[in-house]
Amino acid sequence: MSRRKKVLVIGLDCAAPELVFEQWRDQLPNFRRVMNDGVWGKLESCIPAITVPAWSSMMASKDPGTLGFYGFRNRGDHSYQKNTLANSNSVKTDRVWDILSRAGKRVITVGVPQTYPPKPVNGIQVGCFLSPSTRNPDRPYTYPVSAMKEIEATVGEYLVDVPNFRTEDKDYLLQQIYTMTEKRFKLVKKWIVEKEWDFFMFVEMGTDRIHHGLWKYHDPTHPKYEVNPKYNNSIRDYYRYIDGEIGQILDTLDDDTTVFIVSDHGAKKMEGGICVNEWLIREGYLVLKTQPTTLTAIDRCEIDWSKTRVWGDGGYYARIFLNVEGREPQGIVKPDAVEVLRSELSAKFAALTDPQGVNIGTTVYRPEDVYKEVHGVPPDLIVYFGDLFWRSVGTVGHGSVYTFENDTGPDDCNHAQFGIVIRHTPDAHEGGRELTGLQLMDVAPTILTHLDVPIPADMQGKAF
Ligand SMILES: [Zn+2]
Repeated sequence: MSRRKKVLVIGLDCAAPELVFEQWRDQLPNFRRVMNDGVWGKLESCIPAITVPAWSSMMASKDPGTLGFYGFRNRGDHSYQKNTLANSNSVKTDRVWDILSRAGKRVITVGVPQTYPPKPVNGIQVGCFLSPSTRNPDRPYTYPVSAMKEIEATVGEYLVDVPNFRTEDKDYLLQQIYTMTEKRFKLVKKWIVEKEWDFFMFVEMGTDRIHHGLWKYHDPTHPKYEVNPKYNNSIRDYYRYIDGEIGQILDTLDDDTTVFIVSDHGAKKMEGGICVNEWLIREGYLVLKTQPTTLTAIDRCEIDWSKTRVWGDGGYYARIFLNVEGREPQGIVKPDAVEVLRSELSAKFAALTDPQGVNIGTTVYRPEDVYKEVHGVPPDLIVYFGDLFWRSVGTVGHGSVYTFENDTGPDDCNHAQFGIVIRHTPDAHEGGRELTGLQLMDVAPTILTHLDVPIPADMQGKAF
């Protein structure tokens, strides 16, 4: 009789390969334990390397263009006003748990980004950090609704995210991160043992929040690095804490359970911000009717559309939009001039320097070049300023193209293109082999293979 195989996926948002595989490898015995007997490697993220769309790209095995969303915020149409948030309702395709549910497997997912509102599965789905409340039974963050009470009985008030994580109050931030993570692990440790499941996946957001909040204390090469014994080891200590929690989970698993530890992208220091709309104004692509005197979001500025060819949006990467005749309501760029303009912008972005005049190494992507299909309303260009060492700042009123303050609150790190993947199958004894060339979309078909479920033909990744 064949044994019943199971898969557990431990997701650590933003976990960085340099930290897990190199810098702290000797201090993370449980990561090391699964690495040394399993396989591990860097996991290339999607473009853009951000939480939404990355986790859905991983679990649907489809690129963001095919999924039709390019970040949390997307244009809902080609008007200037309609912005939409990409929650689970935006995901129009199956993710791994949908396929497994239909195949009769029992699934549990906890906190996987873009699972709010939760959808029916053959098991339990606990919503992600996008869940607005854990206390409103009219807008439940779990499927089935009864899981809300069960969670509350186990951990009290459950936290889907750290409220106000962009704060200067680092004591508060650390305390909140630990509270959130301890509750999450308490819940998943209980359910891993008590519930019946074939596929169990949870995603911890604390790794991302602690990177953004405390990277300047961790990285001596950070421009804002501060010696502060209270915080210099905070990120390392948190990884060690996570390692201990993972160890407790590993000790409860049977020999039929394959474990994956994955992240959706990595982390790197942030050198500063490029005020993309200030730059577009300076270069004559964007014209405002009145210049704001205080920091103002671009969608609150009075844009003179009759003279504007290009505008942009901020975030960890820049989204660049062209004001195209016949597409945007007051478009002025002739459709046959779009390609020339995109090339011109790409060349200028690639030539961007820091304030000292040193080229920062900016990369520009065209959606149709990096995606198999392009759905929804994509940006006309996707820009990684300085290979993501610089973030994109969308607000206007800085009086400069450069800023060293974040317009959305303190943030010390940007995302990096590579996250982590570790796989451990107890009987396989794969000897700690390093895997190379893996991409997010390779994870879902690999999970299906382990559970003997056929891989749908439209998955874009390859099982490893
Ligand atoms: Zn993320």
